[in-house]
Amino acid sequence: MRNHSKVVIMGSGPAGLTAAVYTGRASLEPVVFEGFEAGGQLTLTTDVENFPGFPEGIMGPELIDSMHKQALRFGAECVNAEIVAADLSERPFRLKTSSGDMTADTLIVCSGASARLLGIESEKRMLGRGVSTCATCDGFFYKDKEVVVVGGGDSAMEEATFLTKFASGVTVVHRRDSLRASKIMQKRAFDNPKVDFIWDSAVEEVKGNDGSGVEAVVLKNLKTGEVSEKRCDGMFVAIGHIPNTSIFKGVLDMDDDGYLITKPDMSATNIPGVFAAGDVQDRHYKQAITAAGSGCAAALEAERFLEEIGE
Ligand code: NAP
Repeated sequence: MRNHSKVVIMGSGPAGLTAAVYTGRASLEPVVFEGFEAGGQLTLTTDVENFPGFPEGIMGPELIDSMHKQALRFGAECVNAEIVAADLSERPFRLKTSSGDMTADTLIVCSGASARLLGIESEKRMLGRGVSTCATCDGFFYKDKEVVVVGGGDSAMEEATFLTKFASGVTVVHRRDSLRASKIMQKRAFDNPKVDFIWDSAVEEVKGNDGSGVEAVVLKNLKTGEVSEKRCDGMFVAIGHIPNTSIFKGVLDMDDDGYLITKPDMSATNIPGVFAAGDVQDRHYKQAITAAGSGCAAALEAERFLEEIGE
């Protein structure tokens, strides 16, 4: 690993790798820190059918692998390590990584957001095998099947309503007896005849195995303590995302949920030379293609910034 680069990219999902392709083609020799979930959320999905250019669809890991190869082709150095601390008080920025320290003239933060999970063992085991955190990615596989959506916010209502396009029935399991979602999203879900609700309940276990996929969820009523089983073919967890921004707390501007705030219509953060792209700054779209687009924008801005400071 080099000890200095004009461009360091934090994260190796579609935003990070697109930024690497662009800055690589601009001969800036970017260094990409792949992070603790190399490849990002796409590596957790199967078929990606909505990324333009792949009429038959492409597997998430394969798409990421292609982006990775494309970045390498243009001279990016991809390091299988994490940035664990960043001193952004002056340029060059000083980065502490899990494989040594280095400096950078610009930093493009593409560290993504991780889906919040319930944290039970069977959920982890069945992730990608019937447990999903993305209805847009995986809903199609549940044609005429029964699914459960966990959560009570806008994401859960959006996922539940979206899933009715495919599933025969959608049951929302929420831990309280009222929803957090906005009135309009609630109404859309309540008005949909395919959506049912189970209130005051938590998922205790996901039943199923590799071969059969998900078969049922075990629910506990948090008011009565009663335990029951709900048969289903899939479980979608929609209890929010956590942007991976903890190392920038108090340094980069972020909203209350930890999403980085960039200048309007730009990737620039509050610190000149630091840019943000992908899910780490996107609470609205969260798609691979929008992440790739914002990675491109951040790369172009970093390139211009380096020109302006004469690097
Ligand atoms: P959210 O608003 O934080 O809601 C998370 C939901 O998950 C809450 O109902 C919460 O329950 C539940 N939850 C959290 N942790 C849980 C756990 N460990 N076990 C069980 N349930 C748990 O998150 P979100 O729905 O992803 O929305 C995030 C933001 O994006 C919001 O500002 C939302 O408005 C916005 N958004 C907007 C749209 C849209 O307008 N189209 C779509 C999606 C998201 P409690 O209610 O009990 O806390």
